[in-house]
Amino acid sequence: MALRILINGSKGRMGQALAAAAPDLGLKVVAALDAGDDLAAAVPGCDVIIDFSSPAATAHVLKVARSHGKAVVLGTTGHGEAEKKSLRRLAAKIPCVWAGNFSVGVNLLFALVDRAAGILGPDYDAEVIEMHHRFKKDAPSGTAERLLEIILTQRRLGRKALRHGRAGLTGARTDSEVGVHALRGGDVIGDHTVLFAALGERLELTHKASDRAIFARGALRAAGWVAGRKPGLYDMQDVLGLK
Ligand code: NAD
Repeated sequence: MALRILINGSKGRMGQALAAAAPDLGLKVVAALDAGDDLAAAVPGCDVIIDFSSPAATAHVLKVARSHGKAVVLGTTGHGEAEKKSLRRLAAKIPCVWAGNFSVGVNLLFALVDRAAGILGPDYDAEVIEMHHRFKKDAPSGTAERLLEIILTQRRLGRKALRHGRAGLTGARTDSEVGVHALRGGDVIGDHTVLFAALGERLELTHKASDRAIFARGALRAAGWVAGRKPGLYDMQDVLGLK
């Protein structure tokens, strides 16, 4: 029997991309909900909830999934740090795949950046640049946040090391900072560059998304993977076997 999925945030850009891609991957959309709809009423008929809605909805989605014993694929971004901590605890009680980016290429970029940041020492200045469409509500993107986490972990730096844009008399760049730059405009689906710049050379690792379908296909693949799995918080690296 086809896996039954519930899409939360169905009227949005991602919700529509998910509904369009599901049949090709053999998945059945049994419910398509948006703001104001009754999630708890629709959940019993599905196997997996796929949520690409609003960060304000995440805790509710996880709680409803838990009370009905359902798996969740969570794509929504834009949560605060403290909020993420408590959501992670909640998500670990059900089978849940949570990823700031469901594309296969980006997940490989995560692995490559981890490797590069480990090999290239602090004399290679690391900066993360992202660009998204003019409608995106949060910054930096969830993907940029993950890239930053990878670099900070490799460099043993805390979040205080982050420099969000620079303006005015900032002084010379130090070894213990990581720059973050969020560009917004037009219809850009999602570009991410990690730059390692030393005196004499520069390495740039770039991923460019040109079709939202890559995230939808990745999230649907994650739904197939997580259904029936034991409770735990997983990410796309688990789904793709990149760990
Ligand atoms: P969007 O604004 O086009 O769509 C969001 C939809 O969610 C809207 O239809 C809105 O009405 C609905 N919504 C808002 N609050 C809701 C609630 N409480 N319950 C149910 N539905 C609700 O946004 P989008 O571009 O489709 O992106 C949605 C989210 O997914 C954003 O957080 C975005 O950053 C994230 N995103 C993640 C990935 C990924 O790979 N993880 C990729 C693209 C987008």
